[in-house]
Amino acid sequence: MRKDSPDFREVAHAGGKITFNYIIDDEGRRKFSVRFEGSKPNTFRLWTLYALPQGIAVGSVTVGGVGVPWNPPPHPSCIPVMMPSDSEGYFGHQCPVCKKYWRSPGGWAQLPLSCAYCGYADEQHRFLTDAQQKFIESYCYVVLSGAEREQSSVTMDMDAVADACGKESEKPPFYYAEESQQSLLQCTACGSLSDILGVFGYCCVCATRNNFSHFLSVAEEVRARISSLKNYENCVRDIVSAFDSIAGDLLRELVRRIPMIKKRKEKFLRFRLHNLETVAKEVLECFGIDLLFGMPSKDVEDAKVFFHRRHLYEHKGGEVDEKYIQDSGDFSVRLKQVLRETVESSHRSVSLITTLMSNFNDGFHEIFPPLDEPVAYENERKRRLKQT
Ligand SMILES: [Zn+2]
Ligand SMILES: [Zn+2]
Repeated sequence: MRKDSPDFREVAHAGGKITFNYIIDDEGRRKFSVRFEGSKPNTFRLWTLYALPQGIAVGSVTVGGVGVPWNPPPHPSCIPVMMPSDSEGYFGHQCPVCKKYWRSPGGWAQLPLSCAYCGYADEQHRFLTDAQQKFIESYCYVVLSGAEREQSSVTMDMDAVADACGKESEKPPFYYAEESQQSLLQCTACGSLSDILGVFGYCCVCATRNNFSHFLSVAEEVRARISSLKNYENCVRDIVSAFDSIAGDLLRELVRRIPMIKKRKEKFLRFRLHNLETVAKEVLECFGIDLLFGMPSKDVEDAKVFFHRRHLYEHKGGEVDEKYIQDSGDFSVRLKQVLRETVESSHRSVSLITTLMSNFNDGFHEIFPPLDEPVAYENERKRRLKQT
C-alpha cells in the first residue's frame, strides 16, 4: 500500500509536558521519576532511551507494560530519556552510513532498525537525527541541573516546542521538528509504516524491501484496466515496463550490496532488462536467483514474447518488424502487422510477469533475509483478526 502525502512539510513536535520529580531514597540517594503528559489532541508516541549524563544515547528502553521491569541500562549512570514523537506519531531517523532521512512510528526496542534506503541495520539509537541528539543533550542537562539545585521537580514544556514549528521566531532550547517525506509505505510483511523519499525502500522494522508489493499494486491497477476493456496493448506494455523499472531497482540493490569486481558491477549498472532470456541467464549465473523457477516451458516462452512485444508497443507503434519475428520466434504474425492483445493475453502477461517478480523477490530476500519476529507477530495478528 502506498499513499502519497504532500512532500517535505515541517511536522511539529507532539507537545506535552515532561516532569521530573526528585526524591531522596532511604539511603539518602537522590533519584528522580519522570512523567509525560500529552496536552494536544494529536497522535503521539513516546520513545524511551538510556543516555549517559553528558547526553549521549546508548540504548533503548524495552517498555514491557505495567509491572514489567525495564531492561537494565548499559551503564549505571544512564538517564532514561523520554522522547515524544512528532504530532503525526512519527520519529525521524537518520542513517549513520548513507546519511539519508526518513520517518517511522519507531521500531522494536529489542531489535535492530534497518535503514529504509541502504538496509544498514543497527540499534535504534544509532539512527538519531542531529536535532534529536541535541534534544537528548538538553534533556540530560535539565535533569542533572535540577538535581544539583536540589529542586523537588522540573517541568519541560514541550507545547512551546510544538507551537514554534514553522515560525520564524527564535526556537525554544528543546526545539525539534520532523519533515514529511514523499511516500508513506505500509510493509506488506509486518504492517509497519515508513515515510520515505522516493518510491523504493526497505521496511525499517523487518527489512523487507517493498519492490514486490509495489509491483503487485501496479499489477492490480493494470488488471483493473484490462477488466474495464481499456487498450490491452498498453496494459501488456505497462506490466513489462513495471518489471523493467521495479526489478531493475532490485538488481541495482544486489549490485550495490554484494561485493563484486568492478567490471561486473559496471556491466550490471548499464544492464537493460529488455530481453528476458538475457536477464534470466545473467541473474541466475551471477546471483543464483532463478527468475524462471517453477515455470513450465510454455510460460517461459510466452513471457519472453511479451518482453519483445513491449518493445514494439513502446517504439514501433505495435507494428511487427523483422527483429521481433527473429528474436521472439513468433511466426504466427506477418511483417508490418499491428499486434493485437486480448483480455486473455493481457491477463496472462500480468500473471507471468508477476511470477518472474515473485521469484526475484524470493531470491533477493534469501540473500538479505527480513527479521522474523515482526513478520511472525503480524501474521499472528492477522490470524486472530480472521477468527473474530
Ligand atoms: Zn542508510
Ligand atoms: Zn516490515
